[in-house]
Amino acid sequence: MTGPKMSERLAPGLYIVATPIGNLSDLSPHAADILSKADLIAVEDSRVTAKLLAHIGVKRPMKPYHDHSTDRVRTDLLAQMADKAVALVSDAGTPLISDPGYKLVRDARAAGREVHTVAGPCAAVAALTLAGLPTDRFLFLGFLPSKAGARASAIAEVAAIRATLILYESGPRLAAALAALRDGLGDREAAVVREISKKFEETVTGTLTGLAQRYADAPPKGEIVIVVGPPGEPEAAGEDEVDAALAEAMTRLSPSRAAAEVSEKLGLPRREVYERALALK
Ligand code: SAM
Repeated sequence: MTGPKMSERLAPGLYIVATPIGNLSDLSPHAADILSKADLIAVEDSRVTAKLLAHIGVKRPMKPYHDHSTDRVRTDLLAQMADKAVALVSDAGTPLISDPGYKLVRDARAAGREVHTVAGPCAAVAALTLAGLPTDRFLFLGFLPSKAGARASAIAEVAAIRATLILYESGPRLAAALAALRDGLGDREAAVVREISKKFEETVTGTLTGLAQRYADAPPKGEIVIVVGPPGEPEAAGEDEVDAALAEAMTRLSPSRAAAEVSEKLGLPRREVYERALALK
């Protein structure tokens, strides 16, 4: 199916519309067209969306929507989509990404409504383009839990994943989050990306330790994305480390068994470790 065209009237259904995350010029002509023609716009905060609509010189009916809205609100929106074009926006960026909308899309699909998306700004992807960290595999974690225990568990869950991590964070919690990431992931390369597409846009790169120190006594203002690089390749064990491990293992085991144990522990080829074990014997 092709996407919606810029015709006079919109076909009924649900339109997910991405909006700017700072610079209003980032509102695409397609997004402006859909918003100006929508029969109804489901919004997070009508004051925020009213400003955006004023920017493009239109007024449209708005209705507050959150994923925790009552079933009645969602059912009403789904009913309206049968013969009306209902747009969904959040305060900034792409709806559904750490923002309401997932349940509405799920239920719209289940009810057989047409669902369209008008792609546009998303702070997570914008930050990834600024960070200078690998982009081939990335994992979006949204906001970490604010309580220390739950935050540490959430970080531990992803520590082994070989991907760049993207997180949303607020200024006052930034330093604690960076320190918790360092404790749970090791001291990786990272970037703190702030106020994307706004006057005070800034990207600061460094290690998690360095960044945690930098912001410890100076919580930054504005909106923030943390980008953390993937774990490094495990360092190949040095000869001394192999010899020490073999010497210890051979006090308990035959050279062959000691080599098997050490090669597994240090991630080295078994044959090489066995030859070394024989030489040490
Ligand atoms: N749906 C939005 C999106 O597509 O990016 C995100 C909504 S989430 C409730 C808001 C968070 O996104 C902020 O707390 C911040 O972490 C991040 N964010 C939004 N705008 C940003 C900007 N201009 N610069 C940096 N981070 C931003």
